[in-house]
Amino acid sequence: MRSSMLPGLCKLGCASNSAKPFFGSLSGARLRANGILTAYENKELSYFIRMEEQTMNNTPLVQLENVSRIYQQGKVQVAAVTEFSLKVQAGEFSVLCGPSGSGKTTILNLIGALDEPTLGKVRLEGRDLAELGRSGLARLRRDRIGFVFQSYNLNPVLTACENAEFVLALQNIPFAERRRRVMAVLAEVGMAELAERRPDELSGGQQQRVAIARAIVSHPAIVLADEPTANVDSATADAILDLMVKLNREQGITFLFSTHDQRVMDRAHRLIHLRDGRLERDEVRG
Ligand code: ADP
Ligand code: MG
Repeated sequence: MRSSMLPGLCKLGCASNSAKPFFGSLSGARLRANGILTAYENKELSYFIRMEEQTMNNTPLVQLENVSRIYQQGKVQVAAVTEFSLKVQAGEFSVLCGPSGSGKTTILNLIGALDEPTLGKVRLEGRDLAELGRSGLARLRRDRIGFVFQSYNLNPVLTACENAEFVLALQNIPFAERRRRVMAVLAEVGMAELAERRPDELSGGQQQRVAIARAIVSHPAIVLADEPTANVDSATADAILDLMVKLNREQGITFLFSTHDQRVMDRAHRLIHLRDGRLERDEVRG
């Protein structure tokens, strides 16, 4: 990119800075100093521009339109989610809450393109997931979505560092660049010192921190976290929540959790209450 193109870019960064601190990570000064962007910076830049366009157009980051998911169990049909609609905007810290079996995991799986609705549409960043095809969906999961699961789901034979950087390897990011990025993110989640340990050498809370690092290292549009504090003690749950709140505030990362943990619900900006697969109440807090 030529430096003559930069003023517009800097304007874009400055305009966004007041609302979303994470735009600041591509500072005008650094761009001007470099003159030319690396491939990674170019990718990062196009992401920021797309986010900026979405914010300006007010396109929801996630949109579910009248979605139903019906499982067929032999001759019996189980309606996990029924006629459910939802919009999530970039920057939210929102929670899907409801008793066990109310459809939380099903909804996260639909948004994360791990499952398809029986009826209705799921859109991410304005794109209808049904139109993306297999490889498009795989790319979307790799590049735009970070997952945090209740049971961490780390690869047991990889170190913390290798687990967290795996998605960057899939993106063909060169080794030195991905090590630099993954170590920065592991430091952010307080795991830099333990980067060379395998999951069985880490506590549950430490494994969940690695899972959070893995989820955010590729700058996803949204992190989907399915009951992320369910398997840890309450002090660890608080620490994990503090970390996610900080990532949301300081880096503008959008989080959508599922939980029935009151501590998670107390920290959310918005509570989307589910009952029997239907929206019961959508509660926005200050
Ligand atoms: P939650 O995460 O809130 O506990 P789920 O989304 O896991 O709820 O499940 C919602 C409903 O769908 C439950 O009744 C559950 O038994 C049913 N369900 C979930 N997954 C399947 C499946 N693969 N096959 C059949 N029924 C399922
Ligand atoms: Mg669940």
